[in-house]
Amino acid sequence: MANDKVILQVENLVTAFDTEEGRIRAVDDVSFEVKKGQTLGIVGESGCGKSVTALSVMRLLPKPTGIIENGRILFDGIDILGLPADRMHEIRGRRISMVFQEPMTSLNPVHKIGKQLGEIFQLHFQGMADQDIRDESIALLHKVGIPEPELRMEEYPHQISGGMRQRVMIALALACKPDILIADEPTTALDVTIQAQILELIKDLQRESGMVVIFITHDLGVIAEVCDDVVVMYAGKVAETASAFELFKNPQHPYTQGLLNSIPRLEIPRKTKLNIIRGIVPSLYELPSGCRFRNRCPHAMEICATEPPPLLSVGEDHYASCYLYTGSQNNF
Ligand code: SF4
Repeated sequence: MANDKVILQVENLVTAFDTEEGRIRAVDDVSFEVKKGQTLGIVGESGCGKSVTALSVMRLLPKPTGIIENGRILFDGIDILGLPADRMHEIRGRRISMVFQEPMTSLNPVHKIGKQLGEIFQLHFQGMADQDIRDESIALLHKVGIPEPELRMEEYPHQISGGMRQRVMIALALACKPDILIADEPTTALDVTIQAQILELIKDLQRESGMVVIFITHDLGVIAEVCDDVVVMYAGKVAETASAFELFKNPQHPYTQGLLNSIPRLEIPRKTKLNIIRGIVPSLYELPSGCRFRNRCPHAMEICATEPPPLLSVGEDHYASCYLYTGSQNNF
């Protein structure tokens, strides 16, 4: 259950990459906040900037190509973009953790699972006794639903299933009882039943600990299942933000409407053509002027080609970046 204390505030974040073809802005003026105990979903197609936003929060952008050009990221009131590397190192892992899509690329294939868990405790809790590290590691594996944790401690990542590996990744991320867990497409590589189990696990762990969870996903089903609030991103910008309930009930941005309309539903007769969003996401090298969605938008108007639309209030705690709502009063 969320309370009113804002734990993470992202303000006007601009993250760019230097490439051979020049500098591109993968995240352009993105703002959102997350309250304690809340689950936030950041949703969008691949390349929309959602993962880059997460890597910016973790300060894990590839160096030297990834650059935060502008903005602030306040964690518990501290602007983490201004922190020296050693202070950020303490926060990363201990207070903000991340789980990635493919655990095989994050787990070390040549170290046993017990060793990998132990290293986290050694790194963040120096002086912890070996027996305590072992006990804590086994307890954590047990907590994330891994059967016979004592035996799994002695196994290598390739000896367990994909679902179990993802549980190990979650155990690693939770070892330091973080305030924020960022889960980047944590279930995409898993089959549907395992996917549901992992989502249920994260939900249970969140309820128990009160940590904030930020889900990065392209899957609106995941959002509906677990999130309190949603940020919809398109081509590096926020298209719409609202509570999950409001977003599904009353989507306002034409992109969100298109995403929701393109979900197959059981009540629609078979062989009915799915509603798809025409066109493709623009390349960050060749963005259209004005609204980045305008080449795909069924409501595009002349004004849409001028400036990028600001986020406009379209309801209580509900904002959309679209000129259809210029009659609204409050900008974000
Ligand atoms: Fe469509 Fe214009 Fe709104 Fe963009 S600003 S989503 S082009 S109506």
